[in-house]
Amino acid sequence: MLSLDTIVAPATPPGEGGVGIVRLSGPRAVDFLGTTFRGNTTITRMESHRLYYGKLFNSDEERVDEVLAVIMRAPRSYTGEDVVEIHCHGGTQILRSVLDLFLKAGARMAGPGEFTQRAFLNGRLDLAQAEAVIGVIKARSERASRVALDQLDGHLSQKIYKFSEQLKQSLALLEAHIDFPDDEVGALDLPGLLAPLRKISLQVDTLVGSFDVGRVLREGVNVLILGRPNVGKSSLMNAILGESRAIVNEIAGTTRDTLEEQLVLAGFPVRLVDAAGVRDTDDPVEQEGVRRAREKAAVADLVLMVVDGSCPLTGQDILALELCRPDNTLVVVNKSDQAQNCDLERLVGFPCRVSVSAKYSLGLDDLSEAILGLLKGGAASSEGEEGVVVTERRHRDALLLTKAALKELLASAEDSAPLECLAMDLREALSALGLITGETTPDEILDQIFSQFCVGK
Ligand code: GDP
Repeated sequence: MLSLDTIVAPATPPGEGGVGIVRLSGPRAVDFLGTTFRGNTTITRMESHRLYYGKLFNSDEERVDEVLAVIMRAPRSYTGEDVVEIHCHGGTQILRSVLDLFLKAGARMAGPGEFTQRAFLNGRLDLAQAEAVIGVIKARSERASRVALDQLDGHLSQKIYKFSEQLKQSLALLEAHIDFPDDEVGALDLPGLLAPLRKISLQVDTLVGSFDVGRVLREGVNVLILGRPNVGKSSLMNAILGESRAIVNEIAGTTRDTLEEQLVLAGFPVRLVDAAGVRDTDDPVEQEGVRRAREKAAVADLVLMVVDGSCPLTGQDILALELCRPDNTLVVVNKSDQAQNCDLERLVGFPCRVSVSAKYSLGLDDLSEAILGLLKGGAASSEGEEGVVVTERRHRDALLLTKAALKELLASAEDSAPLECLAMDLREALSALGLITGETTPDEILDQIFSQFCVGK
């Protein structure tokens, strides 16, 4: 698909910066540069993928900015079309003026994600790769960006194409036996046909499983710090962050609202939330805090349930504990610097425990290790097939559809169903795989995906 119009947008975020970039793509991009740019080299002699210094002028011959310009000629460009990028000064007004020059020349303002959409439509990227572009931009940890870059490189797509290729071969074989009687193509080796499909079904399963890690990498882990007032939740949050953000106060129940902090723990982006103290109270502000803590505990990936190791458990500790699930709760026994006098044996069913002193920053390495252990246990540390991680819910859903179709096929084969039925299931599995790479994705879903991009990408 080659576009008729030429689009333009700032490629750098709004605000002030050293450099601002305006990007054009389309058949007239180079022409538009020619009408405004004056440098030592004329536009026609400019080499592709080389920066040239010059000045931009408007139609009144007034200088707009001093810039560097680069032409990236089709098809060796991001969109597959002629692309021009202008590196100008990074000021709001300058960027606006440069943009205006090209809009006046006849370019159209690009919609969100339109450059990437063109790259997809021109076959420069498949849909999974295009989605990875957002993943790379939005990555909040090194590990998340590595996984997104792998997806952009096509690691996931290659897997999907490999599956599709196998399914297409099996389908061709089936159709040959449907179309021609046995005596022409020989008897169908059904076990031979099913074996690779069984293998694919298992591989699809592994990929689906990798979404647990993928989701966490993409969205981050929600870690909730929970416990009755005064056990040291704020102190723990501060100790973990290594800075004094949360308010530490000796009066019970001072951490009324929830406080949130972002950090990276062993490559996982983590959102650390300090919940309000949990206890029965008549204070309406506190009750609201408790209600919120209850809600947060229900959706947290991990709960750090803090107790005071220096004194016996109270009814309030037990109340807080009742909000927790044993499989995602780490009991943090705080105040290890003091004589220990806590009846921890009452915490039956909560085997994950670690002893720390938030105040004196003791035991924090053990804490990190225990948190990671739980995250890995819960979010299945294993990456999928050959390190491929599924990060998009949409891809996970398509893989589940693929798996369901293959399961149906294997069950039908078991029941000696007609070959037409098996072929139908295979077509369904193929179509589900095509949703990931974009071959069978409906237009409205495509529009929805690209509308999540920022303008200029
Ligand atoms: P929160 O209400 O659970 O958030 O508890 P805070 O973090 O406000 O702490 C309550 C009190 O316990 C404060 O006086 C802290 O200094 C003290 N505290 C917190 N952690 C420790 C610790 O590890 N050791 C000792 N000795 N005191 C602590």
